[in-house]
Amino acid sequence: MINQEPVTSLKGIGEKTAALFRKIGVETVEDLIHDYPRAYDVFEAPVPVGQLTEGSCLAVSGQILKAASVKRFNHMQIIVTTMKDMTGSLQLTWYNLPYLVSTLQPGKIFVFRGRVARKNSRLVMEQPEVYTREAYEKVMNSMQPVYGQTKGLGNKVITRAVAQALAQCQMAREYLPETLRRKYQLAEYNYAIEHIHFPANQQELLFARKRLVFDELFFFILSVRRLKEKHRDAVSPYVMGKSQKVEELLGRLPFQLTGAQKKVLAQVQADLESGLMMNRLIQGDVGSGKTIVAVLALLQTALHGYQGALMVPTEVLARQHWESITELLARYGLTVGVELVTGSMTAKEKRLAYERIASHEVDIIVGTHALIQEKIRYHSLALVITDEQHRFGVGQREALGEKGSGAHVLVMSATPIPRTLAIILYGDLDISVIDEMPANRLPVKNCVVDTSYRDKAYQFIQKEVEAGRQAYVICPMVEASELIEAENVLDYTKLLKNRLLSQISVECLHGRMKPKEKNEIMERFASGEIQVLVSTTVVEVGVNVPNATVMMIENAERFGLAQLHQLRGRVGRGKYQSYCIMVNASGPEAQKRLDILNHSNDGFHIASEDLKLRGPGDFFGLRQSGDMEFKLADIFTDANILKEVAEAVDLILKEDPLLERAENRLLGKRLEEFIIL
Ligand code: ADP
Ligand code: MG
Repeated sequence: MINQEPVTSLKGIGEKTAALFRKIGVETVEDLIHDYPRAYDVFEAPVPVGQLTEGSCLAVSGQILKAASVKRFNHMQIIVTTMKDMTGSLQLTWYNLPYLVSTLQPGKIFVFRGRVARKNSRLVMEQPEVYTREAYEKVMNSMQPVYGQTKGLGNKVITRAVAQALAQCQMAREYLPETLRRKYQLAEYNYAIEHIHFPANQQELLFARKRLVFDELFFFILSVRRLKEKHRDAVSPYVMGKSQKVEELLGRLPFQLTGAQKKVLAQVQADLESGLMMNRLIQGDVGSGKTIVAVLALLQTALHGYQGALMVPTEVLARQHWESITELLARYGLTVGVELVTGSMTAKEKRLAYERIASHEVDIIVGTHALIQEKIRYHSLALVITDEQHRFGVGQREALGEKGSGAHVLVMSATPIPRTLAIILYGDLDISVIDEMPANRLPVKNCVVDTSYRDKAYQFIQKEVEAGRQAYVICPMVEASELIEAENVLDYTKLLKNRLLSQISVECLHGRMKPKEKNEIMERFASGEIQVLVSTTVVEVGVNVPNATVMMIENAERFGLAQLHQLRGRVGRGKYQSYCIMVNASGPEAQKRLDILNHSNDGFHIASEDLKLRGPGDFFGLRQSGDMEFKLADIFTDANILKEVAEAVDLILKEDPLLERAENRLLGKRLEEFIIL
């Protein structure tokens, strides 16, 4: 298949560029055509100079006033000229583009497009693109894709590669039945792929996007339904009644379970002794105390002489759970073996761990998706728990379940999804809700501020650190980007090291670091050695450092509300008063959304308000994350599509449950591929 060929099969992409592509998760031509843009750059009609505002990226059209001058500064050549239209004049500057001097002749008319900045109280445009009026008219109103980038691999190279890939890749056969496409007004598949990259306008983009979102959700829901069929009334050989030791442990914990925790634990225990397979989702807001319920179920399993596994989405989280479970069991003198399995362990470490698992030397196994590695043989796997499950596909959950036939399945999620949506998305699971917070918590104090507040925020962080506490600072990007204006972890860490007292230890954490480095940083943060952690959203999932009391979020306007709520959930986990500082670097529109968070700490309330506020097309740069691993779909923004999908799945399965009819056959095949993934 052409589409499975490496990106080096494209013209102009050698090994070096391919290595950069690998960094953004693209290895084959197929990967490339599914590497959808993060955003789109719209070439709007030129505006009058008099209407320019600082910080915006706009086009102006006008005449060059005088010949461009070249200044030398260090090793740079700076080209400066001025243009004017009927409403005013504007200074333009470029760096190291000497050939422009001959182009920019006085009296000539051009369109300049770029970001407007303020220098010495005057507006200037820096490094603008230069077009003739005719050339600009051609691109005007078109949308250019903006891809996720990495250092050395800019947007132009990616865009060109995608265009080439689309031109030469093999077209896919349409697998959705015609009737379905008509009914839900869905674009043809190949059209959708092409236009999600290169839409001529917003309308085309929405049309293409709807089709791809529909597909993602459609296969997801289909596979959920299939699981439901498979699990309906399935018996389990693992019948595990309540255990005396678990009851004792409950009495000796440093805290009392909340009423909601007790209720959910009782539901889980009833499942475990029912003789039927448990398939249960525990939904509970961040900090509601899901972990202890999971640990008690694992312990009950171990005490019955079986094995239980806990699968989490990141190594950082796996290690943290492993440590806290080991510590808890040791503290109460329980002799239960606990094993950690992660991808970054050495081959030898893995081999030894596998041996202990196979020989039943260990009873509780904690790890990342390394737990479903083919090489692992469990001795008697009776309970499978996935924490923060939204990060796993249904397939992964199923794969772990298959390691132990008849094993009970427990899924834990902190995504506050309204009940109607939860029933669709988790159709194969019974749902338990922990709808109560531990009593000893002080609610997090919130504020939404603009960037001018930063210095005060740093002083505040300093004060908290001096009092022995710790802080997170979240930035949306890992490194600087030419096209996306947002704070990045690498530069921000440098900045904070300078701004905060030198004895304060500031380090960074992001998804591009090696797992081992991430673990090390997270451990040093958990132990209090690092006091301020500058991070991307990798800390969003489940990390528990109760001593941290400040969560400062840069470019808060770039995150979805549910995700911000998850981030905020990293503080307020202990006995200290905690604070969440959301920095809004954009305008009043974002302020409206952020105010919802500012005034509520209740995840379910936030999620439903978020749904109300957003309209179709409101999806740019606002990934809720915290969702399942969908590429495009966002269960909040796309709630309406999700409902259509649920209806479509019902219709199809009612008429053709095994997808055997001619018009559904391709669909059935595609579903098999999806489940394997
Ligand atoms: P989440 O639901 O987000 O996974 P955790 O299970 O990590 O939350 O719990 C958050 C913190 O609350 C942990 O430090 C845990 O020990 C503590 N905790 C859990 N249950 C209770 C309770 N009933 N009373 C007081 N603290 C609790
Ligand atoms: Mg958790």
